[in-house]
Amino acid sequence: EGRVTTVPDTPDGPRQATEQHDWADSLWIAGHRRPAADGSRRQVHDPADGTVLAEVAEAGPADADEAVAAARRAFDHGPWPATPPAGRAAVLRATAGLLRRDRERIALTESRDTGKTLAEARTDVDDVAAAFGYYAALVEHEAAGRVVDAGSAEVHSVVVHEPAGVCALITPWNYPLLQAAWKIAPALAAGNTFVLKPSELTPLSSVLLLRLLGEAGLPDGAGNLLTGPGDPVGARLAAHPGVDLVSFTGGLASGTKVAAAAAATVKKTALELGGKNPNVVFADACASPEGFATAVDHALNAAFIHSGQVCSAGSRLIVEESVRDRFVAELTARARRIRLGRGTDPGVECGPLISPGQVTRTEKFVAGALEEGAVLRCGGRRPGPGDGPPDGGWFYLPTVLDHCHRDMRIIREEIFGPVLTVETFRTEDEAVALANDTEYGLAGAVFSADTARARRIAGRLRHGTVWINDYHPYLPQAEWGGFGRSGTGRELGPSGLAEYRETKHIYENLRPAPTRWFAG
Ligand code: NAD
Repeated sequence: EGRVTTVPDTPDGPRQATEQHDWADSLWIAGHRRPAADGSRRQVHDPADGTVLAEVAEAGPADADEAVAAARRAFDHGPWPATPPAGRAAVLRATAGLLRRDRERIALTESRDTGKTLAEARTDVDDVAAAFGYYAALVEHEAAGRVVDAGSAEVHSVVVHEPAGVCALITPWNYPLLQAAWKIAPALAAGNTFVLKPSELTPLSSVLLLRLLGEAGLPDGAGNLLTGPGDPVGARLAAHPGVDLVSFTGGLASGTKVAAAAAATVKKTALELGGKNPNVVFADACASPEGFATAVDHALNAAFIHSGQVCSAGSRLIVEESVRDRFVAELTARARRIRLGRGTDPGVECGPLISPGQVTRTEKFVAGALEEGAVLRCGGRRPGPGDGPPDGGWFYLPTVLDHCHRDMRIIREEIFGPVLTVETFRTEDEAVALANDTEYGLAGAVFSADTARARRIAGRLRHGTVWINDYHPYLPQAEWGGFGRSGTGRELGPSGLAEYRETKHIYENLRPAPTRWFAG
């Protein structure tokens, strides 16, 4: 069955453990693996050295139509939408169990495909299993409907929820497995059927996930997978009249195209877009040695985890002026010591960027910022011989740019690379104004030893997630999403389930009689 693509090995590390897989029939339509209808394939690269990692099916519009038709049949005539909550929960729980069973294999695949470290990829798999478990419990324990007091004993009024229908789920390359799960778990919990289109750069973990869903007992056609490009395949899904809902995670430019394409057929639309996320550090957070070390450490994580390719990356450090020099000096010293390399190699702390284009983009942003007056504290270039990473990989050194200000392009636009900019403030009002001065509004943090102040600032930040004295954690029980141009709708939490539902009011007249509204 299918073609086996040999994954390049080295004798010296865990990368040889990546499973040899038949990726060429990577489409999953109506419960069957399939190559693309026209036989097209795409090479998927290992960003750590640029070599070919796998060759997957490259879907086209005909495959998209077929996947939508399969999801449509499964929704209109299949067993899934009518499966009681306990039955849906059982499939979600079984999926969580299979993810735990295959944790190493999936984490290794994700690490090789995205470049992220194996430790991060393992955390992703654990979080994904937790999301499936969370939505299983949520649908199992909820009430069947909300009885409404109509103000009359002659009326029974109840509000119920039903699945939205066929969902198109479109995901980015930085968290392929995680973003797919944040959509699939609530979509299935609510009784929908779906077509998933992962990023063409990182499709491999989605292939594994869809096969696990089949193994967990998801009926044929309830979950379908298209590995293929944004345009035309993602665009086809967004515009398709057979699709009822589109949930998109990715960049602002593609997100607005998806929303426009979906508007023509008035699809329900959820967008999770980019961010330009502030990390506000007050001097009082740095008063004790422990506090200082903590704030610096979190600022480092905020900016450089996954080489900054995180929608919620704390890429804007907004630090109180009186501690700026000390803070930036320590931060820079630590950023210089970050060990770059292949994500699966032991001791590596940061992997490559996803593509050569992403490296060039980062270079352009840094060059522009330097022209506009930013001061380079570390990084600012691709690594050279002796900097650690393998040859041929798409790496960029962790970079700190001091003396930035809000008029610079680098402060306003998402880079999606390992670049931290530094701005300063003197007053609380100034800190809040800077932190909110973005068209995005995904996430942000405040570090302060003064609890009342930290909570006051958290209340004033116009961002969908605010961390106090921490950076990056999220919970499956708590909503995730953006204000402003960071998106519409929410993932995770009860709202994440509500996104995938229609709401229906059933009003029952218990004593029907003529109204005599019209006298004749
Ligand atoms: P992208 O917008 O280039 O691609 C995202 C997905 O959309 C891919 O699957 C792509 O193939 C598809 N796509 C592209 N053009 C399309 C079109 N016209 N119609 C339909 N689909 C199309 O984004 P990316 O570069 O893969 O990911 C990085 C972006 O994702 C960043 O902006 C990041 O902030 C954002 N992101 C947001 C969140 C969040 O939770 N808000 C999470 C992760 C990533």
